[in-house]
Amino acid sequence: MISITLPDGSVRQYDKGITSMQIALSISEGLARNVLAAEVNGEVWDASRPIEEDSAVKLLTWNDAKGKSTYWHSSAHLLAEALEALYPGTKFGIGPAIETGFYYDVDFGDEPFSSDDFKKIEDKVIELAKTKSEYIRKPVSKADAIAYFTEKGDEYKLDLIKDLPDGSITFYTQGNFTDLCRGPHIPNTGAIKAVKLMSVAGAYWRGDESRKQLTRIYGVTFPKASELTDYLHLIEEAKKRDHRKLGKELELFAFSEKVGMGLPLWLPKGTALRERLVNFLQKAQVKAGYEQVITPHIGHKNLYVTSGHYEKYGADAFQPIKTPQEGEEFFLKPMNCPHHCEIYKTKPRSYKDLPVRLAEFGTVYRYEQSGELHGLTRVRGFTQDDAHLFCRPDQVKEEFKKVIDLVLYVFGALGFDNYTAQVSLRDPNNKTKYIGTDENWALAESSIIEAAAEKNLPTIVEYGEAAFYGPKLDFMVKDALGRKWQLGTIQVDYNLPERFELEYTGSDNQKHRPVMIHRAPFGSLERFVAVLIEHCAGNFPLWLSPEQFIILPISEKYEEYAKKLSDELKDSDICGLIDFRDEKIGRKIRDAEVKKIPYMLIVGEKEATEGLVSVRKHGTGDLGSMSIEEFKIQIIKEITV
Ligand SMILES: [Zn+2]
Ligand SMILES: [Zn+2]
Repeated sequence: MISITLPDGSVRQYDKGITSMQIALSISEGLARNVLAAEVNGEVWDASRPIEEDSAVKLLTWNDAKGKSTYWHSSAHLLAEALEALYPGTKFGIGPAIETGFYYDVDFGDEPFSSDDFKKIEDKVIELAKTKSEYIRKPVSKADAIAYFTEKGDEYKLDLIKDLPDGSITFYTQGNFTDLCRGPHIPNTGAIKAVKLMSVAGAYWRGDESRKQLTRIYGVTFPKASELTDYLHLIEEAKKRDHRKLGKELELFAFSEKVGMGLPLWLPKGTALRERLVNFLQKAQVKAGYEQVITPHIGHKNLYVTSGHYEKYGADAFQPIKTPQEGEEFFLKPMNCPHHCEIYKTKPRSYKDLPVRLAEFGTVYRYEQSGELHGLTRVRGFTQDDAHLFCRPDQVKEEFKKVIDLVLYVFGALGFDNYTAQVSLRDPNNKTKYIGTDENWALAESSIIEAAAEKNLPTIVEYGEAAFYGPKLDFMVKDALGRKWQLGTIQVDYNLPERFELEYTGSDNQKHRPVMIHRAPFGSLERFVAVLIEHCAGNFPLWLSPEQFIILPISEKYEEYAKKLSDELKDSDICGLIDFRDEKIGRKIRDAEVKKIPYMLIVGEKEATEGLVSVRKHGTGDLGSMSIEEFKIQIIKEITV
């Protein structure tokens, strides 16, 4: 008998050679129907593979990331089978799972291929899936593997086999198709119920431009047809919400090749939005005991030698700026922490002064390869809503709780209500690779876990995911389309206080090292605005809208009244504009709707004489007419976060 430990900690006894599928069956038939693969001692295995020794087993279903990727990789095999059936003689490169779906690189020889062929391939995939063919694993010798693919005439597989040690090679067969693969795979093709081929592209064999270009076919599969429909709808919706598209339409930001790639230009409306985010957070931070600081955009090389950034990133960073006379070297600031450490050191600190909380909307520059740049989410210059907390080890928990409060306040004000906290801790089996004392680590880790629990955060704990210099807590936020974003990191750091020799005098009159905590609720303003645009599809909460109202005079006659109205609203810090164009009112309303301006104030004869406004709300419609005073009260109530 062997002992199988399940994720809930329970231990069950089974005969040696039991498979994960049999374990699933012994628990429930329903579970077994959904099992795609299993994690055995941390490695993903076929559910049909016998387990020979005491093991920790986690059954994987569609709800597990590793279950999904096994499913999608298995779908790539099925796609290959369909291609081989439809295009005999096709040669196959590699077919991995990707974040969503899979691809297969294939060589059709001289046969032309385009996305027009997708439909018939999809039909074939579903036809083959219905045969419920098992994915059968078979270890083969290197000689047999070479013989098989030589006979088949697939030089790509032969090229792959060449690098594999004899004794490690396995084939997998489903239906009429055999592939070189180390696995794992799902039990049979029957689980694949819906398929969509997404696109086709060229890809050099092994990414080498001097070698043959293969055809890369991207696809995605699902266990239910409705999931495919939902997924395609999501993609359409994501396209509509793409922050690069909306950023342009709403005139928020722009890029100019002359200025430089990856360096965003904030346009007036985008700047108004960004300033409001900054003011909002600044106000909350002042309340929470932060002090605002400002540091320069560059720093002396020695600063980064001390911080360790020079050694670690020097070669991959923007290269130094040199002074013409002294030959000194300066770097564009890649992070604000080293500067803040120097601010901490400007005067002696006592245990009573801690925590010291230094906040800065600090602009930093990081080199990203041009191919990696993407809208506002991957840029070369960005502004962090950064702060560094310097505290005593016994204050870590309280500080974490306060930062959690702040992050949740930010999420609440911006409509992010679906989040989990991910706590990253040390690998308990390999404590030597971390800097800092065992005692401090243990205290910080329990502080973070307790803080998250006391704040009722839904939390996932990941062992071995901590940075070498400290444990951390990340917020994983789901947006309106269910996509996950990492926002709001809180990171403990034992490294920089050591490198900068930061100190405080304790109650024992001795010198001690403070603990440093990095935190940024938004992450960076650029990335956050990108996420926000896509989350709310450009319909910002009223308090953030760059233009909260637009006044639409029915004709030139009412411009005076419109101006008076606009001034009055601006006096109450409500901002907007007047549409002075000589257009029909219907047209003005339509244009304002496209610009997603929250309130449209229509003024004509009745409004001007009686001191009223006729109000339309974006996405809602006509709210009727009211006095200016009434409208002001309503809008101020809505703006107050
Ligand atoms: Zn495979
Ligand atoms: Zn930092």
